[in-house]
Amino acid sequence: MRTFRLTLLGPPGAGKGTQGRLLANRLNIPFIVTGDLLRREVAKRTELGLRIANILQRGDLVPDELVVALIRSRLPIRRGFVLDGFPRTRYQAEALDALLAEHHTKLDAAILLTIPVEEAVRRISLRRQCPRCGAVYHLETNPPKNPDLCDRCGTALIIRDDDREEVIRHRYHTYIENTLPVVEYYRSQGILLEVNGTGSIQEVWQRLWSLVASRLHIT
Ligand code: AMP
Repeated sequence: MRTFRLTLLGPPGAGKGTQGRLLANRLNIPFIVTGDLLRREVAKRTELGLRIANILQRGDLVPDELVVALIRSRLPIRRGFVLDGFPRTRYQAEALDALLAEHHTKLDAAILLTIPVEEAVRRISLRRQCPRCGAVYHLETNPPKNPDLCDRCGTALIIRDDDREEVIRHRYHTYIENTLPVVEYYRSQGILLEVNGTGSIQEVWQRLWSLVASRLHIT
């Protein structure tokens, strides 16, 4: 059966988590979210978790070697995947190419979701997340059925530590500085698919899916 290896790029609040989950479900492949993997390490209070807790809180990037090691141990290369949050630097992008090449395969596409910074701040300030299953809600546009509880697993929802306005702006800058070179890296490989991330979840999903389906010849 045909499978796919995809990654989603874009600034914080662009909708990578929401659209990535829809895409992974549609293609029936795992959705791998590096931010969630890292937050889980922090919650478990492992040695790694303690090392990275402050970095996450500041909105800086976790060191490349560490994230690459995490991806190496977690990426279901044979089964296919949708990645959210990786790669975020040129070093990580090259490490991912090398890892896939070891398995005689490569990335099919990198999907870039774009939104203006003010829209990112507006979206993220009303964001709530389930610490257990990773589901993401927005109090206005995608509210949970029971206020404060996850629809999928019933866990109490939280506001992420790094979802405060000044940290969001810092994360946006981190994106411009470190991750825009990754966008150019994939553009030069000819596998970048650009999607306008503004509008409702359904509007963005329709835009994204029609582009992905036509470029990857999915019927
Ligand atoms: P996210 O949930 O994707 O917004 O990621 C939250 C935080 O996790 C980021 O602000 C970084 O501190 C860290 N992080 C996630 N993915 C990566 C990555 N590929 N490289 C470095 N740090 C990462």
